[in-house]
Formats: sequence, structure tokens, C-alpha cells
Amino acid sequence: MLKAPLIAALEAGGTKMVAGFARGPDEILRRRTMPTLGPEETVSGLVDFFRKGVAELGPVEALAVGTFGPADLAVGSATYGSILGTPKRGWAGVRLLEPLRLALGGVPVVFETDVNAALLGEVAWGAARALKNVVYLTVGTGIGGALMVDGKLVYGLGHPEMGHLRVKRHERDEYAGHCSFHGDCLEGLASGPALEARWEVAPEDLEVGHIAWEIEADYLAQACLNVLMIAPPERVILGGGVMRKEGLLFLVRERLREYLRGYLAYDELAGDLSDFVVPPSLGGDAGLLGCVEMGQGLLRKLGAE
Ligand code: ZN
Repeated sequence: MLKAPLIAALEAGGTKMVAGFARGPDEILRRRTMPTLGPEETVSGLVDFFRKGVAELGPVEALAVGTFGPADLAVGSATYGSILGTPKRGWAGVRLLEPLRLALGGVPVVFETDVNAALLGEVAWGAARALKNVVYLTVGTGIGGALMVDGKLVYGLGHPEMGHLRVKRHERDEYAGHCSFHGDCLEGLASGPALEARWEVAPEDLEVGHIAWEIEADYLAQACLNVLMIAPPERVILGGGVMRKEGLLFLVRERLREYLRGYLAYDELAGDLSDFVVPPSLGGDAGLLGCVEMGQGLLRKLGAE
């Protein structure tokens, strides 16, 4: 059988970078995780990793990057492949894609949000395999969302910004919110840093059963509900570091059922929602593998032209 094309992949997260060389879930040939530091240091570390990988493994066929946002994904734009106005210090305006492309010998590239990439990976190999209508929300340092409708990722002028949805404040929540643009938007109230600022303890150290999780589940269920009402999906995937908290997924399903009140009468939404609101199944490799799928998708597209 013909080998799947070798892709240089990068999941560029706000907290960590996961770079690798892979052909698919069973053939991850190199993988390196490094903290996301200042842009110069981080980009030069990635350039080294990719140069060395190519020297050892031979040329790759494409480079695919799934990045934290906001980012310029518009092919042909003067700032394509750059990070846009992020509050992340030093990163606004940084050209991320170009130095990596050059390090790999100028191969074809695809540049996406991290959550769009993760969604594509889960559709290709994971928790949403072969589905065409999927929502993916990632809850970590920030909150990002991706929406696939009829097999296509949804964009407007740019990528979706579900992290900044407006949610109704929980009656027991007095935290002002930390989004530098909106204060108490979804990300301002429910991201990892919001949890930490509100409760003065890292989310992973907040005990199961703490009111924090009830409030968190309430906000996430509202976000899911809002997206469901726009384009009802076959499945919702909730990923990111915060979602790894024991019991949180269960609470989100419970709250979502309450909010739905049986309104969307689809089979997928019957019962306890345990097959509808699910965790990613590719685990820590979701972002990386999503990029591999994107890179191979790009090559299929180029081959068909
Ligand atoms: Zn916001």
C-alpha cells in the first residue's frame, strides 16, 4: 500500500507548542512539546526542530499549523500566517508560518486555528469519525470553538470566536471576568485563568464537588446551547485542559439537558447526552493529528486541481 504523505505538523497553543512529523495516528515519527515562551525564542526552537527532522527523515510534503488565535487564515492576505491582536505578550503581529515554511524548504502550507485542526483530526480518526456536523469547544488557557456543517468548517470574515460568546451570569458568581475586551464573556468567566483568578487556586486543585464546577458547567452548557441553536450538530466534543476535571463533562450534559427542555427533538439529543457531548478521543495528539489531516487534505486538494 502507498504510504500516506509525511507532514510536518505544529499545534501552536497559548501554553505549549506540540510539533511533530507524522503520516497518521499510527505513524508519528517525531514529536516534541515545548512551552510557548516569547516569540523569538519559540519560533527559533521550532525552526531547529523542523530542520533537524528533515535532515533525519527526509523531506516532508506539507506543513500544517493549527494555532492559537486570533490569527490571519486568509490566503493571499499580507499578514497571512501571522498571529493577530492577541493579549498574549509579544505575540501580536508575529509571523509564525513563514519561518517554519522556509525551514522545511518552502513546502505547501495550511494554517488554521488549533480548534479547527483538532476538529478535523477527530473527524478523520477520533470521536467524530465520519460525521459531518460537529461542534468542538476547547476550554483551557483560552476558549476556542470550531463548527463543521455538512463536512465543511464554518468561517465568516474570519474564524469563529466562540470563546467570546456572551453567557448569562450564574447567580452565585461574583467574579468580574478577565477578558481584556469584554470582561465577562464566556472566556472571561470560564477559561482556566478565570477559574484560577476567581477561586485563587489552580483549576486542577479545585476539588470535585466544589461549587466552581457547577458554575463552570453552567457556562459551558450555555455555550453549547447557543451553538446548537445555530446549527444543530450530530456531536459536540469538549476538549482542553479544564475539561479533564473528573465529573465536569457529566455536569455539562446535565445542565445542557435542563436548558434544552426537550426542545431539539433529534435522536442524537435523546437520553443522557453521553453519546452527544463527548471528550476528544485522540487525547494529547488531537491537535497534532488534526494538522496531519489538514496537511494531507491540502495535498489531496492540490492533487485534484
Ligand atoms: Zn471576550
